[in-house]
Amino acid sequence: MLDDRRSDNPDGSRAEHIVRGTIITMDPERRIIDDGAVALAGDQIIGVGPASEILTSFPSSIVTGSAADLVVPGYINGHQHLTGDRLIQSSIPDNLAPGESIFSWVVPVHAAHTPDNDELSASLTLAESLVNGVTSTFEAGTVAHPERVAAAAQQVGARVTIGTWGWDVDDGPFAGPVDEVIDRQRQLLNQEYGPLVSSWVALIGHDLMSDELAVAASDLAKSYDTKLTFHISPTTSDVESYLARTGKRPLVHLDELGVLGPHTVLAHAVHLDDDEAQRVLASQASVVSCPWAYLRLGQGITREFRHLQLWQAAGRLALGCDSENAGDSVDGLRVAALFTGLAKDCSVDPTVFGAHEGLELLTIKGAEALGVADQVGSIEVGKQADLVVHDRTGVSWPPLGRDPVLQLVWGNDGRSVRDVLVAGRVVVRHGKVLGLDLEAATAAAAEASEKLIARADIEPTSCWPTLPPQA
Ligand SMILES: [Zn+2]
Repeated sequence: MLDDRRSDNPDGSRAEHIVRGTIITMDPERRIIDDGAVALAGDQIIGVGPASEILTSFPSSIVTGSAADLVVPGYINGHQHLTGDRLIQSSIPDNLAPGESIFSWVVPVHAAHTPDNDELSASLTLAESLVNGVTSTFEAGTVAHPERVAAAAQQVGARVTIGTWGWDVDDGPFAGPVDEVIDRQRQLLNQEYGPLVSSWVALIGHDLMSDELAVAASDLAKSYDTKLTFHISPTTSDVESYLARTGKRPLVHLDELGVLGPHTVLAHAVHLDDDEAQRVLASQASVVSCPWAYLRLGQGITREFRHLQLWQAAGRLALGCDSENAGDSVDGLRVAALFTGLAKDCSVDPTVFGAHEGLELLTIKGAEALGVADQVGSIEVGKQADLVVHDRTGVSWPPLGRDPVLQLVWGNDGRSVRDVLVAGRVVVRHGKVLGLDLEAATAAAAEASEKLIARADIEPTSCWPTLPPQA
C-alpha cells in the first residue's frame, strides 16, 4: 500500500533517490513497514510504502539500502550549545558546587571564544550530532557569531535553529541594556542563512534577565512567528532568587508577565511546584528535557520527575543533549533511553512510559513541541527528507524480535547509524560526515583548545595523578 497522499505526485514521478529498509514512519498510525522504501525528490519525501511498490511507482537511478536496514526520521535535539563547551569537552570537573562550572568555566570560555572557535566548535558538535542521527538541532542561545555557526551548519549539512546571547546582567559576555539585546536578537531573525538554518529568540534566562527583557523578547518572538527559549529552574536556585526578587516562583512570575505561551520553549524546568506545572500546561509552553545534564550535574531530576508528569498531562516535551560538559555526548538515542528509564523508575511503574514514547519525544513529539512538525519528525509524503539509516548487521542488533523500537532504544545508540540524509542530501555515509575533514578539524580543535584555555585562564586537570610521558 502506498501512502494515501501519493496522488499528490503523478504516477511515475521520478525519485532522485530511494532508500530501502524497515521503515519506522512515526506517522499518525505509527506504521512500521518491513522491507519498505522511501522515495525522495529534491529535499522532500514523495513516496513511502513497501519496497516493491515504491520501486515500481517511482523509477530512480539511485537505490540504497536493503531490508536489513532500519530507516527512521532524523532525530531532534531541542537544546544544544554549539559553542563554548566543545573545545573543553568533558573537561569541567564533575564535583564542583552548583553554579561554579558556569561562572568559573563556561562564562570565561565563552568570553574568550573567537569567531574561528565558534565555527570550529559548531562544526564538530554538528558532525557528532549527524553521525548519531541527530538531524535537527536547536541552539541554546550562547552563540556569539551566528554567521560562523550558520556556515558550519551549511558545511556539514545539518538543520539548525540558531540562538544568540541575550541577557541584561551588569557584567558578562555580550550583556547589554534591553534595547541593545533585543536589537541583536532582531538582527539574527532578519538574517537569511540558507534553507537549513533558521533562528529563534534566545535568552540565557535563569535570574539573568530583567522583566523588561523577558517581555520584550517574548513580544519579539511572537511578532516574528518564531519561538522564545531560555533556561529556567534546572536547580532550585532560580526558585530562590525569584522568590527573593518578586515574591513568586519563576514560572508564576513569568506567566503573570505574559511570557509563557505556545511560543515559549523552556529549557529544563526541572524544579516546578504544582502551580507552575499547571501554568506550563495551560499556556502550552514547551519544555526541553536534558536528563543527562541533570544527572551529570546532580540537579535532582529524580526527586519528582516533573517532565513525566507534564507528559502524562499531554504537555509539550522535547529532548535535548545540552552541552559537552552537561550531558557531554551528543546522541539523541542515549537521551531517549535515559528519559524512558527514569520515567519507569521514578514512577516505580514499568507500564507508564516505554521505548516507543521515548522515540516519539526524539522525533515527532519533539518536532511538535518545537513547532516544526509540518517539516520534520516523521517519514511522510511532503515532509523534508531527513532520514537516519541504522545498520542492523552489527552485533548490537539481535536477529530475533519483532519490535525494532525496543531494540533501537534499549539495545542501541548512535553507533549503529550508517547513513544520514538531511533535506534529501546524503550527509553521513558509512558513519563518516561527508562535509567535514574530521581529521583536520580534530587537529585544529586540539590547537585551538590550548589557546582558548590560556586566554580564558582556566586550568583543566586530572582528578587522579597522571604520570607525564617519558622522554
Ligand atoms: Zn543550556
